[in-house]
Amino acid sequence: MNYQPDQDGYYGEYGGSYVPEILYKTVENLKEAYLPIIESEEFKQEFHLLLRDYVGRPSPLYYARRMSERYGCQLYLKREDLNHTGAHKINNSLGQILIAKKMGKTRIIAETGAGQHGVATATACALMDMPCTVYMGATDVERQRPNVERMKMLGAEVRPVHSGNKTLKDATNEAIRDWCCHPSDTFYIIGSTVGPHPYPDMVARLQSVISEEIKWQLEAHVGRDYPDCLIACVGGGSNAAGTIYHYLDDERVKIVLAEAGGMGIDTPHTAASMEIGTDGILHGSRIKLMQTDDGQIVEPYSISAGLDYPGTGPIHCHLYASGRAQVLAVNDDEALAAAMELTRTEGIIPALESAHALGALPKMRFRPDDIVVLTVSGRGDKDMQTYLKHAASMGIK
Ligand SMILES: *Cc1c(COP(=O)(O)O)cnc(C)c1O
Repeated sequence: MNYQPDQDGYYGEYGGSYVPEILYKTVENLKEAYLPIIESEEFKQEFHLLLRDYVGRPSPLYYARRMSERYGCQLYLKREDLNHTGAHKINNSLGQILIAKKMGKTRIIAETGAGQHGVATATACALMDMPCTVYMGATDVERQRPNVERMKMLGAEVRPVHSGNKTLKDATNEAIRDWCCHPSDTFYIIGSTVGPHPYPDMVARLQSVISEEIKWQLEAHVGRDYPDCLIACVGGGSNAAGTIYHYLDDERVKIVLAEAGGMGIDTPHTAASMEIGTDGILHGSRIKLMQTDDGQIVEPYSISAGLDYPGTGPIHCHLYASGRAQVLAVNDDEALAAAMELTRTEGIIPALESAHALGALPKMRFRPDDIVVLTVSGRGDKDMQTYLKHAASMGIK
């Protein structure tokens, strides 16, 4: 089995590059430029220094003793929550802005749902002194006030989008429209392993620093550089792609992906696009997505704003279809319980997205000496409102 994309950006049946005629050349230019740039010594050095001194990498690999006892395994947490801006997304935004600069681009656009990618991109733009426009559904602008304020303080222009359901999918359409009008000077920073080729591969490579670190950190902790099992949550798929990147071909390593079950995959209120989705094309690539019989996108639902994307990136669709990865749907209530459990056993308040990865643990069986690495993609500060709203059911007094 091959888990890398082919020439045209296909992972098995998924991926590809479906873009409007007017963007063809822009995407083609990026396709030719990104690998030589990422593999150049100059880029590697600049990126590494930023990751070290600005983001605070390497992020720790933490042996969670009490959680290990509870689940009967050796559980290590990859602490992406400790990165600058509070999640893994900054790795990608910094990498892409460096690529944009090397390609001579002078303006950055992005789309954001919960605002996390918008904040990471606005941060990178402030650092690099680049003008930044962030498209965001009007509904999300209302729901995610603090992130809108952060983006504005960082100097980004936030453009509310009033079309459709006024959420992420509509913001993405608007960003693509902008890109079509300014293809030569504008770089579109996509926040996950989605979009037309080469975005999924580019984002996976930029996030692969996560598994690069896991390798030597595990070696130092337990004397071998691979775990028995890797667990990560999946929205579009970037923190998961980074977590598994250097282990894809190592069949000793089991891969478990947690997607958002919402109120349950047998209800209309879910975002479990791998389990209930069907093949279609969204935002430039062929993926599994939630759609009606006549191809209208079904609005996804999850308690976690970062996981309610109507599809999943092509890398993970292929891993699921080929049987390389196991996919588990974790429902809202299970994620809330998992967030509470980590908080009370280890003193770490995780992001709601990350809580979905933790929510996979009770659904799994381990042997006592199994080495399990679970990525905590972000911290929970941004989710305190939601946690407090559910305080009673979570047992917070
Ligand atoms: C955005 C986000 C996610 C989901 O995005 P992926 O691309 O699937 O990683 C997960 N966790 C956190 C903390 C996020 O901000």
